[in-house]
Amino acid sequence: MPEISPNPGAVRARVSRLLVLLVVALIPILLCVALGRYEAERIAQREAALASTFIVGQVVSIVETAQSAAHTLAPRAAEACETLSPDLTLKAATVPYVRTLNILYDGRFSCSSAIAQHSIPANGLLDGHVPPSKDDWLRIVNDTPMVRNRPSLLVGVAGEAGHGVVAVVDVQYLLDLLHGAAPLTVFRQAELRVGEGTVLREAMALVNVRGAPLLADVQKRMSGATIDLKIYGRPERINEAWGALMLRYMPWAAAFSALLVWLVRRLQQSGRSRRDQLLRGIRANEFHVEYQPLYGVETQRCEGVEALLRWVQPDRGATRPDEFIQAAEEEHVIVPLTQHLLKLVARDVATWDVAPGFHLGVNFAPEHLSGEQLVSDVRRLGAAVAPLGATITVEITERTLVCNTEQACNSLLTLRHEGVNVAIDDFGTGYCSLSYLEKFPFDILKIDRGFVLTIDPQGKKAAVLDAIIDLAHSLGARLVAEGVETQVQRDYLCARGVTYIQGFFYAKPMRSEAFMRWYRANGAHMSPDPHMTAGV
Ligand code: C2E
Ligand code: CA
Ligand code: CA
Repeated sequence: MPEISPNPGAVRARVSRLLVLLVVALIPILLCVALGRYEAERIAQREAALASTFIVGQVVSIVETAQSAAHTLAPRAAEACETLSPDLTLKAATVPYVRTLNILYDGRFSCSSAIAQHSIPANGLLDGHVPPSKDDWLRIVNDTPMVRNRPSLLVGVAGEAGHGVVAVVDVQYLLDLLHGAAPLTVFRQAELRVGEGTVLREAMALVNVRGAPLLADVQKRMSGATIDLKIYGRPERINEAWGALMLRYMPWAAAFSALLVWLVRRLQQSGRSRRDQLLRGIRANEFHVEYQPLYGVETQRCEGVEALLRWVQPDRGATRPDEFIQAAEEEHVIVPLTQHLLKLVARDVATWDVAPGFHLGVNFAPEHLSGEQLVSDVRRLGAAVAPLGATITVEITERTLVCNTEQACNSLLTLRHEGVNVAIDDFGTGYCSLSYLEKFPFDILKIDRGFVLTIDPQGKKAAVLDAIIDLAHSLGARLVAEGVETQVQRDYLCARGVTYIQGFFYAKPMRSEAFMRWYRANGAHMSPDPHMTAGV
């Protein structure tokens, strides 16, 4: 029985299985964390959007109210202050939000609802700015002529003959609005700018908003000025919301993660159990080898065989070779399986008696070819067949060429120097670019059965097949045609200089003893299998 030590491929497979499990476990958890964060930020943004819509709407309404009061007095702005003053006072007292109404003329407040006829220069009180008298304007100032150290919103409209009307709105309305709709318990800071001048902040002291996310930034144009509201969030509040969402959804994510891990583990185990079955099959000696003869076109003799592995389980019967070979490759047991085959072949050929120069073809998988054991494994078989005078042919598929490593190339070169032939199997089935053929050391091309099937019973040319045959000739390679089942196929191939024919037309794969009996009877002069020709 073969010693089955964990090869590097199996160790890699185990590590990658564990990695897959880890990734699968982490995906729902990380998704939950990321979606939770996203949702917490969206909730904060929604709150800020609601608050800002409300605040800006109210500011617009306050400004419009003040503007409308100022506009009613604008046509009379040039009247003498004694006649205008009672109406200014009455209007200021009856219009909501407005504290005073004033006439602005030539850079001075010439008349006011609060202090009658005193003329006060405007620039000293409007933070050094003289507002225009021709246009409407908005500005927040820190002082007004009547109330010092108390910010006010000035709403100016143009009046008659260079006179303007200015409504003074107490900023407390706006601060209350910010306080009510964007409280500091919910947001880090709300900043309101109405036209030019001072920025109003919900927190009286300047709050450091660095690191605080800007949740809303709303701008609205009115009367040539811009109302601008910025709301900054509280990172700790967003984190709290995030934490609450995590508490709610994390148990689900963890459960989903556990379910996924369980499912993937089961999938992996079904793969593992395939591996175990194959290894058990080797230990229980469930594999045997069958040998399919190769007909030499020139000599008309049996010039060799291809060794084909068979697996018959007592409870399940035979499994198709391409199925279990693929499973063995995927589960990284192809190397021990092939080593087992080599032992079986060595045991079989010890009882054989064949003509010198007989070819023994063995299939090798890509993993074996790029590993370090290939040369020693083939040499061991070489030692077993040496008493027969037979040569070994290493059959590799085109797939192997594509993933060929330097190790593979070197191993094949070494083996060829020692008299081993290299055959490219299933040639033309599509993996290989022609450039590989020039780089790769080989002696024989095996034409895939698919191309043999293109031979037309009516004798039409099989163009691709002909091209492959020409290619092999020009590369100086010998050709084996696989899967030959009819006289027409055989004749077509022989006429084009194919070296060997392998197929049911001559013989099916046989167990060792059956093959020896067949070889003694037919080896020296091969004729078609009577079962195959019976119906032709
Ligand atoms: P392959 O290497 O191309 O082997 C030739 C296949 O064609 C064999 O199928 C053989 O039985 C089949 N065959 C030969 N003549 C005819 C014919 O006239 N008609 C038809 N329909 N089929 C024909 P098998 O034994 O089922 O093997 C299938 C594949 O499994 C092989 O294809 C090879 O790729 C793989 N395989 C078999 N034994 C081994 C092995 O020991 N090692 C490796 N690595 N692969 C193997
Ligand atoms: Ca083969
Ligand atoms: Ca083949």
